[in-house]
Amino acid sequence: MLLEVRDLQVEFRTRDGVAKAVNGVSYGVAEGETLAVLGESGSGKSVTAQAVMGILDSPPGRVSGGQVLFRGRDLLTLKESERRRVRGAEIAMIFQDALSALNPVLSVGTQLAEMYTVHRKLKRKEARARAVELMERVGIPAAAERAGDYPHQFSGGMRQRIMIAMALALEPALIIADEPTTALDVTVQAQVMELLAGLRDEFAMGLILITHDLGVVADVADRIAVMYAGRIVESAPVHDIYRAPAHPYTRGLLDSVPRLDQKGHELYAIKGLPPNLQRIPPGCAFHPRCPIARDVCRTDVPPLYEAGPGRLSACHFWRETLAGAAGAAGAAG
Ligand code: SF4
Ligand code: MG
Repeated sequence: MLLEVRDLQVEFRTRDGVAKAVNGVSYGVAEGETLAVLGESGSGKSVTAQAVMGILDSPPGRVSGGQVLFRGRDLLTLKESERRRVRGAEIAMIFQDALSALNPVLSVGTQLAEMYTVHRKLKRKEARARAVELMERVGIPAAAERAGDYPHQFSGGMRQRIMIAMALALEPALIIADEPTTALDVTVQAQVMELLAGLRDEFAMGLILITHDLGVVADVADRIAVMYAGRIVESAPVHDIYRAPAHPYTRGLLDSVPRLDQKGHELYAIKGLPPNLQRIPPGCAFHPRCPIARDVCRTDVPPLYEAGPGRLSACHFWRETLAGAAGAAGAAG
């Protein structure tokens, strides 16, 4: 495993008490593999990634337990200076909002070249040449001319490509992309995802793709981990999830994505909202929204059941969910 997160716990101190943003999350990514982490906002998917990167907003955020093993070494035990070296050089992150992640007063060529002058000690001219090469590699037309332009002079999609170039500059072993295409229109989304997938293959990088949109991960991810209220509720190979989800929440997410193979199929919306993390419902946190919830769901926290090869589901009734007993038609009623 390139990255292995084990039983991660993250707490946030708020005025109303402690919120468990991440509550016992475990996942792993191998070299060349893509893990999609899926969930609504507030599910803990970004916070988990920030804890992995060591960029939690702390305080109020604090890792209160678990391990983050990168090539077998627990990043949580490293000094901040060592941590900083890992960031960028070994694990890089791509954010949703490229405009605020890039420096507005430096040209993109200068920002990219800085990666090489600062981290690789290259001479300025050579660094600049590498920067232009990288811009070409991520598909910026007329890269040499455009290297002098500032971030705001690029379209959203081109800016996201520049962010990918920044992440790629030091050839990290792992890229964590947090909603990398959410701000883009659908056609551009597909192009940016294609670029990311191509680079992952070319450099045999691990990729963690954080998204609320099941629609963008189908062609790119190997595995999916679905998060809800700070926990993983289902994890499985992507095709297994698409064929038959083993958790009602995953089924709800799946049924709310337009699919080409189900034209005319009415889109489903999961009723209700994710819980406030200071008041996570007892038992299964999903029970107030679950179309098949029963008494046991209100009292007993479901463990992660083995629901097949390489497959886990935190649902007491994963068998019937898998068998389709909680089908979309029934669930929507
Ligand atoms: Fe629904 Fe119960 Fe399964 Fe939770 S454990 S997802 S409430 S059926
Ligand atoms: Mg987020």
